[in-house]
Amino acid sequence: MKPYYTLADLRQWEKVEEELGSTARLAVIGNPVEHSRSPGMHQAALDALGIKTRYVRLLIQEEEFAEALELIVAKQFIGANVTIPHKQAALEGATYVSEHARKMRAVNTLVVRDNKELEGFSTDGPGFVRAIREEFGMDLRDLRVLMLGAGGGAGRSLSVQCALEDVPRLVLSNRTFEKAEVLREELKELFVSDRLIGPEDRLVVVPMGSAAMERELRAVDLIVNATSVGMRRSDPEVLPGKWIDPSHCIFDTVYSGGKTKLLAAAEANGARGVNGLAMLLHQGALSFEYWFDQDAPIEEMRKGLAG
Ligand code: NAP
Repeated sequence: MKPYYTLADLRQWEKVEEELGSTARLAVIGNPVEHSRSPGMHQAALDALGIKTRYVRLLIQEEEFAEALELIVAKQFIGANVTIPHKQAALEGATYVSEHARKMRAVNTLVVRDNKELEGFSTDGPGFVRAIREEFGMDLRDLRVLMLGAGGGAGRSLSVQCALEDVPRLVLSNRTFEKAEVLREELKELFVSDRLIGPEDRLVVVPMGSAAMERELRAVDLIVNATSVGMRRSDPEVLPGKWIDPSHCIFDTVYSGGKTKLLAAAEANGARGVNGLAMLLHQGALSFEYWFDQDAPIEEMRKGLAG
């Protein structure tokens, strides 16, 4: 099997399947996509359940995406995962989009229905909720959250999910401050109840690394890094490590490479910290449930992800 296939391959998919000696009716579509760990996780699940098809990577350029969607329907795919940079285009390209994915403004899971229609879902936010429960033994809806990178794709999705869970407090931060302010405007109608201390204070925006952020940190339970900082070893600290205290839970969505500086600082300060692998696992399990309408074999998927 090749590390990834292209639109040219997809156009003659029968030939690819002949070479593979198997059908290949599930894929992750992205650019770049070579690094995606989804095939390992999903193939383990397919094999465990005796579903005889391959899950492959499709490297698709932005201008090729519409044709790729037509082709996965025509070639009788079961569905696909969609990653950077196509999550918004998938929202436009699907025939039906769930209410939840509309709120996320992103689709990461496509299901081909009746060989002709594409249904779009978003599993990142619900996968995050499951990951928090699994990793910290707590429910997101009970936690006061600081979201770093609230203006990016993942940060937006996770912030919307926090709002839908009605977290007691959500502090948004983003390098480009205005993007976090735009998100606050969008989310503020979801923070109208006086669940904790009144509508104004339950949703706030602070500049990255500011004194205001340091103050806010004293009143949050969960710190989420949804920036891309930490993907490379040479990356700077996403927030000063000395601001972390032992009461904090740290969820770093980054899962590539080794331990990020943020997670090293969590450990040094006696806080609990985890990387984004559990979120990757659970968003994948939810995709699998959409495709096959049955529980995903989660432990097999976990092993597939590790292997
Ligand atoms: P994205 O849309 O490109 O957003 C990148 C975010 O990082 C933006 O908020 C950006 O701020 C911020 N950023 C970039 N460089 C920065 C720096 N030097 N200092 C401070 N902030 C910086 O990317 P994405 O798709 O949201 O992905 C973000 C992270 O989420 C990645 O690490 C990805 O691996 C992770 N992720 C994990 C999962 C999972 O399942 N675990 C799923 C999806 C994504 P500006 O707005 O100012 O540019």
